[in-house]
Amino acid sequence: MKRRDFLKTSLTASLGVSLGSASLLKAATPSAEYPLAIASGNGEVAVKKALEILQSGGKVMDAVVEGVKIVEDDPEDLTVGYGGLPNEDGVVQLDAAVMYGPTHKAGAVACIEGIRNPAKVAQLVMDRTDHVLLVGKGAQEFALAHGFKTENLLTEKTRKIWLKWKEKLNPRDNWREVADDEYSLLLDQYKDSYGTIHCSAIDTNGDIASVTTTSGRSFKIPGRVGDSPIIGAGLYADNEVGAAGSTGRGEANLNNLSCFLIVEFMRMGKSPQEACMEVCKRILSHTRLPHLLKDNGDLDFNVEFYAFNKKGEVGGAAVYESSTGFWMADAKGARKVEMAYLYKR
Ligand code: ASP
Repeated sequence: MKRRDFLKTSLTASLGVSLGSASLLKAATPSAEYPLAIASGNGEVAVKKALEILQSGGKVMDAVVEGVKIVEDDPEDLTVGYGGLPNEDGVVQLDAAVMYGPTHKAGAVACIEGIRNPAKVAQLVMDRTDHVLLVGKGAQEFALAHGFKTENLLTEKTRKIWLKWKEKLNPRDNWREVADDEYSLLLDQYKDSYGTIHCSAIDTNGDIASVTTTSGRSFKIPGRVGDSPIIGAGLYADNEVGAAGSTGRGEANLNNLSCFLIVEFMRMGKSPQEACMEVCKRILSHTRLPHLLKDNGDLDFNVEFYAFNKKGEVGGAAVYESSTGFWMADAKGARKVEMAYLYKR
């Protein structure tokens, strides 16, 4: 069978099975009233904080940035900010972006080192420069100019996980492996892992703001930039339509400008959940390289999407069924939202 036919067949087969009622949740997407905040599965504190700020009259951009700051500051979240897992040299390099609906302006930093709150720096890039994206040393110097302080973002925990990774990398090199311990277990959990926090919100005026912040892929090649700081890939906001954000394999979003596409699908009338699912399918149909596919043609990685529209409808979808779902908060409080998916785990 030609590769193309194989892909088509396996696509139909897998979608036929998994795109039934199990994957596209039948229940209408929960609808909410403004103000409203959504965030990835690690964003319970973020949506609560964002909503609290919005309910007390704060600005929507501050609400999402302050929300994710709690997770950036948390050393126990190994995928974001302080205590995020480092690159292959043991250096933590962070990516973040913000986008503000009313001005349609964005700000972002990529590969920034030593600054634990890159989302706030991205907000300053948006507010205090005529640029959108600053990277590496320039991003750090910009942060220092605004009074940020550098610090070592590697915690004892992430240093030990990184060291395990290095020692286990190649049995023929000079790094000897020692007995397995708790850090080996954490390494197993995080070695191929992705993790990030996304948060979007809409205030009582219907103005939208979005943020995505991350330490990116664990043990990445130094200098690697993911989707999180790229507008349209890891987040997108359009004040006329809604907002979308993502976590998971950034390369898939960079190749498909996934969050821009979700917002465009919502503009065409799809619900947030349908728009997110449509992009999962688009990624599937565009993924050709064998190392990204299982033998049966299913995708061998995960990406998750979260979105809302101007009607206050909320929805999400993922390549693989999510065990956590994602978070939303509105006047009814903070709660989990189930996600549609391509494949059951
Ligand atoms: N999307 C992030 C990146 O590729 C990682 C993640 O969300 O897990 O950098």
